[in-house]
Amino acid sequence: MGEETGTAPAATPATTPASLLPRRGTGHQVVVELLLHGPLTRGELGLALALTPGSVTRAVRPLLDAGVVSELDALPGPGLGRPVTPLDLVVDRDVVVGVKITTGRVWGVVADLRGEVLHDASVELSSTDPGVAVGAVADLVRRSLARCPDRAVHGVGVSVGGQVDAEGRVSVAPLLGWVDVDLGAALRQRLDLPVVVDNDVVSLVRAERWLGAARDLDRFALVTIGAGLGYALVVGGEILELPSSARSPIAHVPLGIGDGVCDEGHRGCASSVLALPAVLDRAAGALGRGGDVSLDDLLAAHSSGEAGATAVVEEAAEALGALLALVADLAWPRAIVVTGDGIGLALAGRDVVDTAMRARRAADAEPVTVDLQATGFTRWARGAAVAAVETFVVGR
Ligand SMILES: [Zn+2]
Repeated sequence: MGEETGTAPAATPATTPASLLPRRGTGHQVVVELLLHGPLTRGELGLALALTPGSVTRAVRPLLDAGVVSELDALPGPGLGRPVTPLDLVVDRDVVVGVKITTGRVWGVVADLRGEVLHDASVELSSTDPGVAVGAVADLVRRSLARCPDRAVHGVGVSVGGQVDAEGRVSVAPLLGWVDVDLGAALRQRLDLPVVVDNDVVSLVRAERWLGAARDLDRFALVTIGAGLGYALVVGGEILELPSSARSPIAHVPLGIGDGVCDEGHRGCASSVLALPAVLDRAAGALGRGGDVSLDDLLAAHSSGEAGATAVVEEAAEALGALLALVADLAWPRAIVVTGDGIGLALAGRDVVDTAMRARRAADAEPVTVDLQATGFTRWARGAAVAAVETFVVGR
């Protein structure tokens, strides 16, 4: 993770090449098909796009001439047929930027069109004031692009924990304390680049759907543990739109575990027992150290066998198991991806998670794969980059 220092904003590279990717027509269809499913032979492209061999040849030739598409080594053809030459998109000459805004820091990546991270960096956010955040994002984007010169820049994806409309206006972002912030417009003005703003959990699930372990599943759920509890569901390969509430759909489901009370007054709801601030509050009491306890402190005390720490971790793990059992029974996904900055709790208490999940489900319930992913904020920023590819290259 590169950390950017200094205050002088670096200039946008003077000669940013224009993208050669076609924006419409058959050429665009070929580019998108290769981006999502390449490498593909001409025959496979024809089948996927319902094009005649002649149409495929006519669409591909200018893309090869422009260097947008390349031919890979020939493979033996089917049966006794002639060898076939797969085609693929040349993905690293075009880039997008992905940014995740958190309360203390802005995280950014420059990624190629398949979400491969070429450069990552972060800057501290001195305050959550929207103007300060916009300035920090704009500086980070310019500096990051200056590190990856000579690439066509398609746009910037930004992810924020909150409700966001299609134009990038944030109606509410509870952790940042934002209400009605037109983040998209402010960033477009500062950056002179296309900008898409997305809910952070939605952009993370976009990246999972494209690039993660769940990429071939038509139905999966994503649960994030952090300052809040996030949830997203993919059904038939499509991300279900989040309900128009600022509140996460799983944040306050009753689990009946622990005697904590959340800020809405529920005893034993998911937030009261599993959200990171609640867990760390209990850890501070259990470890008797006074002052704040970080997740790293708690996990270190747990791995050295401190009884108080173990009880706190196991209670959170039991709550997660109960929550995952609900998700499994109500949404019947094939897999549940669990991630977020509190994932260490789940990893430390993995056995308890699994046992609690099994105990709350029917004995003959179809098993659901639970994929615990230790990820940093760079992955969230990559999710925002994928949102930019979907918006500005694929055209979703
Ligand atoms: Zn609650």
